[in-house]
Amino acid sequence: MALTGLQIQKLLPATNCKECGSNTCLAFAMKLAGKKAELAQCPYASEEAKRVLGAASEPPVRCVELGPDRKLKLGGEVVLYRHEKTFVHQTALALNLNDTDPPAAIEAALTTVSTYLLERVGEELRIDLVAVTQKGSDAAAFASLAGKAWSQTKRPLVLRSPDVAALTAAAVAVKGSRSVLCAASPEAAAQLWRVAKENDHALALTAPDLNQLVALAGEIKKQGLNDLLLQFSTCSLAEQFQTSSIARRAALKDGVKSLGYPTLRFIDTGNLLDDTMAAVNEVTKYGGICVLPQFDAAQMASLMTLRLNVFTDPQKPIQVEPKVYPIGEPKPDSPIFVTTNFSLTYFIVSGEIENSGISAWLVVPECEGMSVLTAWAAGKFNGGTIAKFIKEINFESQVTRRELVIPGYVAQISGELEENLPGWKVMVGPSEAADLESFVKSRLK
Ligand code: SF4
Repeated sequence: MALTGLQIQKLLPATNCKECGSNTCLAFAMKLAGKKAELAQCPYASEEAKRVLGAASEPPVRCVELGPDRKLKLGGEVVLYRHEKTFVHQTALALNLNDTDPPAAIEAALTTVSTYLLERVGEELRIDLVAVTQKGSDAAAFASLAGKAWSQTKRPLVLRSPDVAALTAAAVAVKGSRSVLCAASPEAAAQLWRVAKENDHALALTAPDLNQLVALAGEIKKQGLNDLLLQFSTCSLAEQFQTSSIARRAALKDGVKSLGYPTLRFIDTGNLLDDTMAAVNEVTKYGGICVLPQFDAAQMASLMTLRLNVFTDPQKPIQVEPKVYPIGEPKPDSPIFVTTNFSLTYFIVSGEIENSGISAWLVVPECEGMSVLTAWAAGKFNGGTIAKFIKEINFESQVTRRELVIPGYVAQISGELEENLPGWKVMVGPSEAADLESFVKSRLK
């Protein structure tokens, strides 16, 4: 039976030393109860705590950490559907290189991985890993390409080769990168688990069917390596969808520990549209690492945007810091707009003001990341709260203009806002941000 936070707290040292990253032992106990932390994060956990909590404190899908600083986290999932709580660690996207690719193509791919940056609602999105595949017969060249990919991009790698000796040489060459070694078969896995352990890498397993994969994962774990990924042997998109769903359900609902690992999928259908559909399946259906065969800007931007939508916490809207944002180079008498601190709202409104070609101030009070109408309905965005925020930050001393433009959806707060901000006039702007440009041209210029 699952333990409650209070029951778990009684097993912890009660020193509140914060070394686990939580402020108190109780806060850490609550995270353990919610399967959002692992007992290993507390260096002072007693043997009894380890025994009692042990497996019960681990998320049903193991969290595998990659990269030298272990910042790239996979798995750690606790629910089947996002709306039940949230998904925890997003699908990592990787770009594949083959050792037989022309040098110029390899350089271009490595530069892309290092420099690619997509900004969405204030988040900086980058390519997470590089996969290096051996297609030629030169093991030394494969290891050397792995070393080059690691030193140039500083991303963890996914190393793939049918040759255990080549994979071993590459694993040693990139020791310290905390990468993934892909065992091409159960027999290869039996030789590679020790290499992965000695060089501090994770190991991806594969087997002809799910039953054999379960047996293999159990066997490798028994040997002492638990940082595993699973590669399903499937031959169609439908089969991959079904297998991923079955495995995740078995791990979460039936407690099948050997399926409780993040997955790895190499995509290469030979067709950009089919590749994209397969990658979408990974992002939406439990993919751990999704390796793309080459870079396509439109595909990457679409996948990253989809991923951002799937993996944000539905209980915590993405928000921007409450403050006054200058747009362009505003002067004390420049127009002043007000909106909420829900990221999407902020970025759309600020973008539309920018498009209108004027410089302005955008006042963003604390609204707990809610959109305009939701914040208004929750009592977080009204005449009183906006006026309070403007006074608290002493905005009146920074500007000479005394006119605020509020969103059209909350026209009803204009009177209350004028009452709370004596000397200010309130202008009702458009309801839709898309109409801001024409509003600026007709009313403010
Ligand atoms: Fe408590 Fe352990 Fe966290 Fe310290 S590290 S606060 S003892 S749970």
